[in-house]
Amino acid sequence: MKKYTLRCVECGEEIIKDEYTTRCKRGHSALLRTEYRRKKLEVKDSPGIWKFSNWLPVMRESSCDASPITYKSEGLAKELGLSNLYISFNGYWPERGAYIKTCSFKELEAMPTLQRVCERARDRMLVVCSAGNTARGFVYISSILNIPIIAVVPRDYMDRMWAVEEIKGVVLIAVVGDYTDAIKVGEKISGLEGMLGEGGVRNVARRDGLGMVLLDALLSMKELPRHYFQAVGSGVGAIGVFEMAKRVIEDGRFGKELPRLHLAQNLPFAPMYNAWKAKRREIIAEHDMQDADNAIKRMYANVLSTKNPAYSIKGGVYDILNEAGGTIYGITNEEAKEAEKLFESIEGIDLDPAASVGIAALIKAVEQDAVGKDDKILLNVSGGGYKRIKEDYSLCKMKPDFSVSLDTPIEEIEKELRECIKAVTLSR
Ligand SMILES: *Cc1c(COP(=O)(O)O)cnc(C)c1O
Ligand SMILES: [Zn+2]
Repeated sequence: MKKYTLRCVECGEEIIKDEYTTRCKRGHSALLRTEYRRKKLEVKDSPGIWKFSNWLPVMRESSCDASPITYKSEGLAKELGLSNLYISFNGYWPERGAYIKTCSFKELEAMPTLQRVCERARDRMLVVCSAGNTARGFVYISSILNIPIIAVVPRDYMDRMWAVEEIKGVVLIAVVGDYTDAIKVGEKISGLEGMLGEGGVRNVARRDGLGMVLLDALLSMKELPRHYFQAVGSGVGAIGVFEMAKRVIEDGRFGKELPRLHLAQNLPFAPMYNAWKAKRREIIAEHDMQDADNAIKRMYANVLSTKNPAYSIKGGVYDILNEAGGTIYGITNEEAKEAEKLFESIEGIDLDPAASVGIAALIKAVEQDAVGKDDKILLNVSGGGYKRIKEDYSLCKMKPDFSVSLDTPIEEIEKELRECIKAVTLSR
């Protein structure tokens, strides 16, 4: 019996044999979703996210065992007049039992993804593009598990590449340009022989990995939250939580209603917010991403600066908002910083700017009476503990193996890359 199959949200076709598959055979752009054979949530006696491994698209557990933690808020809850506010903290905060040492929820995506690579695509090398948090999470896990990967990061964000220990077996490429340029370079590299594009939102292991936030919250909340708050960039996290909520409803023991989705983007760059406000499925660049490069430079939380989010595609953010109900908030830098100050002073941990955007959305929702005082609310604090971790570790900064630009011919990139891969695999 198969543990899981994948199903296309558009045509319903079932993919029995997962070969790190990201599209149905008909090539639909719609997402594939994991369908697990076991319909009841089981909590195993395993560390970290592997407690819920029955609902992860992998056959075995790996030795990386980070996890979200959930606690019932007192400080922020009191400040906002809420009686049932739960916080999912994804970062480093040992006082609360949170040990994500790359300080964001991207590590939850990295763990099952790299395990899936191990099981389904061992002969290929994973390529990850990122504005920082994703690459930091993936590189760290790949180093621990001894699975070499290639990470492509804009040069300007290279200071986000650090780890609590020396990183081994990774090729790190700096791109002179912005996040979008890095994605373009990464796509070219993924097309080379022996490479495997990580898949972004199409990668079911990423989405189900982020769904762990909801399952961990269930352990404390005992039932599905009525409202879910999170800052969104690509939409992967929100879609993952939505899909996990559907599985939980199928289980039957934790409630029948999907949590309303309160998603947040950081102004001035907020393509999904703009399209949703205009009640459109399509993101239209002239309307929704005006003067994009300049807008991105002005964002406080630029990990949210994805120009091509999973909004319009079938099964994407537009669809899940319609199915679950909810909205997208546009949050200014000032609102995010104010929320951050408030949270840090009363909850007592430092935040990723993106997490602050999510908290600002909660504050807004309370002001607008979009949530009831006694409603069960789950706030995803998607990253934090950057200052806290420096008290316990001296961080190792990573240096890029080489730099390229959008104009560097792919032949030239490939030559350097092959040399680096040789060095990396020899050193293992
Ligand atoms: C990536 C990221 C987000 C946004 O998640 P998406 O899945 O891209 O929508 C929010 N917060 C933090 C800290 C992140 O790193
Ligand atoms: Zn299909």
